[in-house]
This record gives sequence, structure tokens and C-alpha cells, in this order.
Amino acid sequence: MAKSVVAKKVVVVGGGIVGCLTALKLAQRGCQVTIVERNQIAAQTSGEASWAGAGILFPLLPWMYKDEVNALALSGASLYPALCQRLLDETGIDPEYTQSGMLIQPAFNAALALDWCAKNNIEAQHFQTQNQGNNLLLPQVAQVRNPRLMQALKQLLIQQHVTLLESTQLEPLANTHKIDGWKTNNGDVLKADVFVVTSGAWSFELLKDTAANLNVKPMRGQILLYDLSHQAVADFPTNIIYRDGFYLVPRRDGLLLAGSTLEDVGFDTSTTEAMRQALQLKAESILPSLKHAAVIKHWSGFRPGTPDNLPTIAQHPSIENLFLNTGHFRYGLTMAPASAERIAALICD
Ligand SMILES: Cc1cc2nc3c(=O)[nH]c(=O)nc-3n(C[C@H](O)[C@H](O)[C@H](O)COP(=O)(O)OP(=O)(O)OC[C@H]3O[C@@H](n4cnc5c(N)ncnc54)[C@H](O)[C@@H]3O)c2cc1C
Repeated sequence: MAKSVVAKKVVVVGGGIVGCLTALKLAQRGCQVTIVERNQIAAQTSGEASWAGAGILFPLLPWMYKDEVNALALSGASLYPALCQRLLDETGIDPEYTQSGMLIQPAFNAALALDWCAKNNIEAQHFQTQNQGNNLLLPQVAQVRNPRLMQALKQLLIQQHVTLLESTQLEPLANTHKIDGWKTNNGDVLKADVFVVTSGAWSFELLKDTAANLNVKPMRGQILLYDLSHQAVADFPTNIIYRDGFYLVPRRDGLLLAGSTLEDVGFDTSTTEAMRQALQLKAESILPSLKHAAVIKHWSGFRPGTPDNLPTIAQHPSIENLFLNTGHFRYGLTMAPASAERIAALICD
């Protein structure tokens, strides 16, 4: 007689990009998955990074990072074309995956950059401009539109029978060897075979009483959104432009993101006038026509900051049925598809 296989019940804690893709991968492997999200998935409520980010699918100046960071980021980026096509085909929501390329303007170390690109098979066009000096165009760099990506993923998860438990917050976990049940703020206790923490910047608070050794803290980023859709802008960029820690990201419909800040201010979701002015000055120095363009939105989000930008993708060191997929810092959107594959393999294989 054939042995019946009982599907693993998994609770994923946090419904950002990392949690949603982890849930999708686990569901594809036959698990019964529930995502628990304290707010709403694919919404902007109080600093969720996946809604707030710029959507660039590539590290900024990758030659400045450790090989592990770039390996995970490049692997994640390579999975996006198929993922976005699937999301569009199966949900009708277009995450607007666009290979817009990224233009890096001075100052940067051109020799180091060209060497890294050659070693990693990344196409790079190096050229000089009269008053600006070294420029580097990376034509393969792509972007997505975060809110649409998240909406499409939410829809796909519903179609894949993943349970979404929204407006439900898990309470900080007490130390234990095995989780029998995890308390929510509604007084319920959630039971599962396996739990996965994907709660981004909030992961340390959730697990600080366990021996997780998680070094994750919120790093605020502010972004401005310009609307150039109603005016003829001769210099509207087709590429993402990066200069000196700052970027402009042109969207298909004439909107343009300008960001971002990197601030260590705890869980303060404010946007500040000082940073708005600083971002506007930088944006206008790259694209002078922005002096006459309207800023239609200004927001902030919390990156799950970690030393060296290295996430934790592992089983908890002492709680046998708890796994961690968190701390992706500046490149969580880019890394998430590869990170989800790794944690799903750890849980299921
Ligand atoms: C301004 C800015 C620009 C960025 N630009 C880029 C970029 O261009 N490219 C790139 O690759 N990355 C970028 N990032 C980084 C990227 O957005 C993050 O690394 C990534 O979104 C992290 O995803 P996450 O799912 O871990 O976290 P989040 O999206 O923050 O999701 C965590 C979720 O967990 C929920 N949660 C927390 N605690 C609990 C609890 N106790 N119970 C239930 N739910 C809980 C939260 O509500 C939240 O929804 C940017 C980030 C910011 C802020």
C-alpha cells in the first residue's frame, strides 16, 4: 500500500518580499503554508521595507561588497524575469520588470569596477564625458515596481492556497527547544511543524529572548517620488542613474524615484524636511529639469540592517523547528528569490 505523505505545516512570520517568496517556495514543495502579517501584505503601513524600496535588482557598487553578498544578489536577480512573467501571466498584475540599465557617474574606482564586471560576466560600457570624467553603464541591470510586485505576489499566494493571516502580530518568543505554539496579539496560539521568521527589521525584537544571535536593526531610508508624466522632459533618463550614494529610478509612466537616505534612528517612521531638501538638491544636480517638477510623495521604510549586508538564512541555533530568513539590509528585494530557495531547501530536504 502506498504510504500517505502528510504535508508539513509551516507558519511564515512576516509578509514582506522575503516572507512572500519563502511561502511561495514552500507551497511549491507541498507544504501547507500560513503567512502571519501584523499589518496588510502589499500595503504601506509602518515602515515595511518591501513596499518602500526602490526596486533596483542589483547591488550599488558591488565591487565594494563581500563575494557572499554579490553571489546571493546576482542569483536572486537572475530569477526575476521568470518570476515577473509568471506573476503577470497568472495574476494579470504587472510588476514592471524592466531592464533599464544603470549608469554610474563619478566618483568611483573605475579599475576596480571593470575588473569586478569582467570577473562576474557583467556587461560594462566605460566612457568619459568632458566635464564629468569616468562613467560606467551596466546595461543588464533591471528594476521592478515594488508595490505592484507585492500586489501580484499576494494574489498569486492566494491562488496557490497559501493562508494569509493579516492584522495579526506574533508576540516575542520565549526561549525553548521546540515551539509548540506561538502566541499572537489576539490571544490565539498558532501551531505548526515549522516556523520561519521573515520579519525584516523587527526580527531582533521578536527573538531577543532566544539565543538567536541576530544582529538586525532598522536602518531608515527616505525616498521622493517625482511626477514628470505631464511635461515634456528632454533629459528624462532611460537608465537608473547612480552618483555618490544617491540614485534616480525612472519608471515607465514618467514617474521618477529619488533616493535614498541611510539613517540609524530606531523605529521612527517620520520623513524629514531636511532630508527632503537634501534629496531634492542631489536629484536636481543630476537632472536640472527636476527643479520644475512636482514631488508627489515622500516616504520612509526600514531596511533590516546587518553587518556587511549579510542575511541569516539558517535553522535557529537552539530551537529545532524554527528557521530564520532575515537581515537582507540594502538588497533584500534583489536577494529574496534566491534566499527563499535556500531556506525552502533547508526546511524540506
Ligand atoms: C528606502 C529603501 C530603498 C531600498 N531599495 C532597494 C533596492 O533598490 N533594491 C533592493 O534589493 N533592496 C532595496 N531595499 C531593501 C529591501 O527593501 C529590503 O531588504 C527588503 O524589502 C527586506 O524584506 P523583508 O521581507 O525582510 O522585510 P519587510 O518588507 O520589512 O517585511 C517584514 C514584515 O514583517 C512584518 N512583521 C514584523 N514583525 C512582525 C510580527 N511580530 N508579527 C507579524 N508580522 C511582523 C512587518 O509588518 C513586515 O511587513 C530598500 C529598502 C529601503 C527602505
